[in-house]
Amino acid sequence: MTVLSNRAKSLKPSPTLAINAKAKSMQAQGIHVISFGAGEPDFDTPQNIKQAAKKALDEGFTKYTPVGGIDELKDAIIKKFQRDSGLSYKRSEIIVSCGGKHSFYNLAQAIFDQEDEVIIPAPYWVSYPPMVALAGASPIIVETKEGDDFKITQESLKRAITSKTKALVINSPSNPTGSAYTKKELEKIAEMAILNNFFIISDEIYEKIVYDGFKFISIASLNEEMKKRTIIVHGVAKTYAMTGWRIGYTAGSEEIISAMNNIQSQSTSNPTSISQKASVEALIGPQDEVGKMVSAFLDRRNYIVNRLNKMEGVSCFKPIGAFYVFPNFSYYYGKSYQGKKIANSTNLADFFLDVARVAVVPGVEFGADPFERLSYATSMEDIQEGLDRIEESLKKLV
Ligand code: PLP
Repeated sequence: MTVLSNRAKSLKPSPTLAINAKAKSMQAQGIHVISFGAGEPDFDTPQNIKQAAKKALDEGFTKYTPVGGIDELKDAIIKKFQRDSGLSYKRSEIIVSCGGKHSFYNLAQAIFDQEDEVIIPAPYWVSYPPMVALAGASPIIVETKEGDDFKITQESLKRAITSKTKALVINSPSNPTGSAYTKKELEKIAEMAILNNFFIISDEIYEKIVYDGFKFISIASLNEEMKKRTIIVHGVAKTYAMTGWRIGYTAGSEEIISAMNNIQSQSTSNPTSISQKASVEALIGPQDEVGKMVSAFLDRRNYIVNRLNKMEGVSCFKPIGAFYVFPNFSYYYGKSYQGKKIANSTNLADFFLDVARVAVVPGVEFGADPFERLSYATSMEDIQEGLDRIEESLKKLV
């Protein structure tokens, strides 16, 4: 008898969480590591949101809630979609889960079967392929190019579509590249979805973190037909610095949402009651803090992109959104440090950690080995120091 299921054996832990753990353990040993690893804002959750949580606690709002979230939060989500994307949903078309990751997981469990293929453009968020695979379906990875701003083209999408294609995952703005689709580009993708009859899973978790006046568009908002075939996965973690509160939500057809509700009712039950109350305040309370955080991210983005592009052999796409850069370091592959060869993004990330004391996440984890991911959701001082260290360490590679 083997102890573990094949499912468990095929899984490895989320690499981003693993890098953070390694950096933290070095820090605990007194080593000053600068971490570009974290996928979370370094800001505190805004006061008004915390107050709403405290009020919920004081009022004894600490019991089970309906599995898919309280009506008050569903109504706030409905308002948010109407306000930001002009989309109208009913309560029965919304479900609240324990984070955006959980939303995607439950969705995958609800709509994918063994024979289904799910197209995932690379570079992708690390958790999409495993979650699709855990649902028994096949992730079909389609590479995008740095020269195409990491966006999927109609030609490459066409090549990936088969009669088994059930869905395409779009993450705009993207983790890890910060690329984002314009309305025109989304219209082309929508055309393909309608023509070939597949769903779009639109992960909009970085919707509010955009720069240079970019206008975020949800593919669901293009027309009624696209609304029907799009399932939006969203959450409060990134916009409101609420990563620990664990609230994500999904908007889609009543049929899909109801199936997700059944899955959730037999697994986690409701998301935390107090976090739900806080999320109501986050979504429909004052939004000023979001603007302040985005403006700080913008300064950091400008600095980090500029510095990286000045480093010998490094090229870095200028992100339109989210809080990551995804520079190409492949110029250094094949070079060595003290006789040890750097062959790929994992070797280089190890080198940065060991020699520069800087934590980054290897691009291979996002399906793109020439790159490393750096999160700039960290202080400007750390960014400056971290980049100095990276630049110095690169000079040691021969
Ligand atoms: N989607 C993307 C693209 C992400 O980067 C993340 C977090 O890293 C999530 C979803 C899930 O976030 P959470 O589960 O914290 O709400």
